[in-house]
Amino acid sequence: MDLYSGYPYWLIKNPLYNHIHELRESINTDTVIIGSGITGALVAHELCSHGLPCVIVDKRALATGSTAASTAQLQYEIDVPLSELVKKLQVTTAVTAYQASLQAISDVEQVFLKTGLDADFERKSSLYLASNNKALQELEEELAIRQRYGLPVTGLGATALQQRYGISRPGALYNDAAAQIDTYKATTGLLHYHHGQGGLQLFPYTEVTRHQATRDGYELLTGNGKIIKCRNLVIASGYEAGTFLPEKVMDLVSTYALVTEPVPPSAIWPEASLIWETARPYFYLRTTGDNRIMMGGEDIPFRNEQLRDLLLKRKTNRLLKTFRQLFPGIDIKCEMTWCGTFSSTKDGLPFIGCYPGLERMYFALGYGGNGITFSMIAAQLICKHLLGQTDDRAAVFGFERR
Ligand SMILES: Cc1cc2nc3c(=O)[nH]c(=O)nc-3n(C[C@H](O)[C@H](O)[C@H](O)COP(=O)(O)OP(=O)(O)OC[C@H]3O[C@@H](n4cnc5c(N)ncnc54)[C@H](O)[C@@H]3O)c2cc1C
Repeated sequence: MDLYSGYPYWLIKNPLYNHIHELRESINTDTVIIGSGITGALVAHELCSHGLPCVIVDKRALATGSTAASTAQLQYEIDVPLSELVKKLQVTTAVTAYQASLQAISDVEQVFLKTGLDADFERKSSLYLASNNKALQELEEELAIRQRYGLPVTGLGATALQQRYGISRPGALYNDAAAQIDTYKATTGLLHYHHGQGGLQLFPYTEVTRHQATRDGYELLTGNGKIIKCRNLVIASGYEAGTFLPEKVMDLVSTYALVTEPVPPSAIWPEASLIWETARPYFYLRTTGDNRIMMGGEDIPFRNEQLRDLLLKRKTNRLLKTFRQLFPGIDIKCEMTWCGTFSSTKDGLPFIGCYPGLERMYFALGYGGNGITFSMIAAQLICKHLLGQTDDRAAVFGFERR
């Protein structure tokens, strides 16, 4: 599958990390991770940090899957509001999912603090706008339930929103617990770091075309006919994980994004907050370190890559129009546009852990708009499992709830 097309900003901004070769001989190893995106990189980071060496294989150049197309906002809010999630799941499960998501932002921050890697990680505030008057009631319910469970949030009325942000909307929820990163820089930084430390072997351009369970693990066949034998297999293959899964657990969605030319710093709204809204699919925006505005949305169900790509111009024009309606005073010029495919689950939560009956095969499937924070949680849960430790979050994100 073509995971995206157009010009994803991170791939243009950063040098390509491509000086490593494909797997050239069969190997026998402990843990193999399929996928070198942000998920595979975070899993490798957790394992290497706990003394568990591992191997990553990827059919593409390193980190050039969905990770390169991400707009990379880190928010604790899951695509399904907490007030709705408690109707789909047990209250404690829904609240744990939100708390885990909040904690994951700090954990991502710690990864880069501890390794000393620069991933353009920046703490940000987040503004969740009521798209219309009807949504105000939803927002009030959401505010009440998040406050009841101690999640960081405050309400902003229409006047405060207008005065502080110059935004004309009936209200918003505000928190200062969000963040943003450069996903490509983050991922290649981690891969390079652990490869250099000796705990991680990397094999790009190496597709796993067949896998088979053995008595004590898995045997993988690669596209160039090499065999990889391993005890543990981690599936961090993003939206292409379907070939490893006995059933479909997500729906694919086409999504659109763009980045503007840099704007004067004085033109950017206060705190350069991440902004999104109650309407579904939602429009969202962030800024970049060089004062560009990055925005995305206009999601539609994915049918095929050709149809997704055909709509790029029309959809990104709509994103620009929505932005200009929100901030009529900011003069923007579009510089790069791209579209991608991502996926969503019914409850907005990822699937992490073993599929029933498939022992030693660990899925790290951070589906939805919070893919990156979910990748962090997946990395921790899989590492803990391999170390023989338990974690209450495992039941929240496991396949058993499907
Ligand atoms: C436009 C867009 C905006 C987004 N915005 C956000 C956001 O703001 N915040 C957020 O948290 N998330 C966001 N996401 C989602 C987030 O980017 C993804 O959840 C995340 O990048 C997925 O990372 P991954 O490592 O799981 O997958 P990928 O980056 O796709 O990596 C998986 C890798 O597995 C490899 N692979 C697959 N099958 C095989 C095989 N058989 N053999 C070998 N290799 C294989 C692929 O080549 C690929 O490189 C967005 C996504 C898109 C497309």
